[in-house]
Amino acid sequence: MNSNNVEESVLENAIRFHGHKCPGLAAGIRVSKVVLRELGKPARDEEMVAIVENSSCGVDAIQLLTGCTFGKGNLVFRDFGKSVYTFINRETNKALRISLEKDAFDTDEEHRNLFAKVRDKTATEAQRELFTQKHMKKSDEILNMPEEKLMTIEQVEPEPVQKARIHESLDCVVCNEPVMETRVKLLNGDVHCIPCFEELTGNNS
Ligand SMILES: [Zn+2]
Ligand SMILES: [Zn+2]
Repeated sequence: MNSNNVEESVLENAIRFHGHKCPGLAAGIRVSKVVLRELGKPARDEEMVAIVENSSCGVDAIQLLTGCTFGKGNLVFRDFGKSVYTFINRETNKALRISLEKDAFDTDEEHRNLFAKVRDKTATEAQRELFTQKHMKKSDEILNMPEEKLMTIEQVEPEPVQKARIHESLDCVVCNEPVMETRVKLLNGDVHCIPCFEELTGNNS
């Protein structure tokens, strides 16, 4: 089907994990390939850290392929709304900052209009179909595009990122469920979990 840059099995695994094929996922796969090539094999533990500046589709490919995952704590989310990803190999002390080129994601007006209709569920069956076709074509374009057209890769100084720590748990006096000590809220000296604290105080900041 496609693709000079990405093996079919890698693409299939990523689609299975993410749930669908889309341009964002395609870009995440391309970013991950650069990271594995430049920084080494996927992280089994915390030897590699990813700092992602968005929480969109591409981050799923990054978690799957680089081993920098939410659960291991070596995926740091900075909510900047930017298509920028920084990876640090703690063993070699090498770090890369990868930013995606916005031109790579350009779509024609028809594609954008269709996307809007699909999103607010006003698209007809035929419009949906056409949108899917265009979306798949864009995804394939991103999978196959020359690296320098898709992203800017810079080597940067690795910033210190704290390793995930193990914390004690304390029991909430209301629901009795254990809470990581750093997330406990005290009310008259009693330990509360955040949901119980917010329910009691009406405070959900
Ligand atoms: Zn997606
Ligand atoms: Zn509670």
